[in-house]
Amino acid sequence: MLDCRNVSVSYDGKTVVEDVSFALAPGDCLRIVGENGSGKSTLMKGLLGLLPLSGGGTVFCVGRNEVGYLPQQTPARGDFPANVREVVLSGRLNRRGFSPFCTRRDRASADENMERLGIASLAGKPYRALSGGQQRRVLLARALCAAGTLLMLDEPSAGLDPLAVSQVDVLLEKLNQEGMTLVVISHDLKSAAHSGGKVLHMRKKALFFGSAEDYAETALYRRMTAPEGGCGF
Ligand code: ADP
Repeated sequence: MLDCRNVSVSYDGKTVVEDVSFALAPGDCLRIVGENGSGKSTLMKGLLGLLPLSGGGTVFCVGRNEVGYLPQQTPARGDFPANVREVVLSGRLNRRGFSPFCTRRDRASADENMERLGIASLAGKPYRALSGGQQRRVLLARALCAAGTLLMLDEPSAGLDPLAVSQVDVLLEKLNQEGMTLVVISHDLKSAAHSGGKVLHMRKKALFFGSAEDYAETALYRRMTAPEGGCGF
């Protein structure tokens, strides 16, 4: 499904992701964890082809046009003119190839995903007028519209209230059960270790890649989640 070999990414000659290799099978759920600045978002952008790889690494991904991506939270630009429905529909652009026209299926997918995320009533509102949490749901609905087989999410819960966080968790679990492959950046080491899926722990390099059960047994995980001086966000 996703095969990432010796991937390195640099900014202005400074390497921030170094020699990361892992592979996912269809239906896997990977949590990428690590401290702030450990290279998680940069790795995801490298996997998506949004940043060039440095060195001779390769990324092979099945169904490249059907990957949904939720970027890290960034404030909406004040002049961003689209309404909620248009933003969600824009998730279908890659699937349409060169056709400028929305199909009935595109519109149905947008409606279904707005419904799933509880934002159907906001469909006609300007995106920029929404709260941070509402904007997050809109972007998640857009990513779902794009995702045929693989969904990459950079901290999907950032900026959401606790109820919305658990709703998103339930949604992701359901999508994964339906066969969607997930790659999710998370601050939460403990829930990653108990997720039942796979874990990649980044600190510029991949310090660990394997099953969540094995991760929970590592000295790395114990040290990071120790009450005294650990860094278990
Ligand atoms: P994480 O997602 O784990 O918090 P990032 O991938 O955002 O980490 O950042 C990894 C490192 O790359 C950090 O040192 C960060 O300061 C640096 N970095 C991130 N984005 C850029 C950028 N656009 N230009 C230069 N350096 C960057």
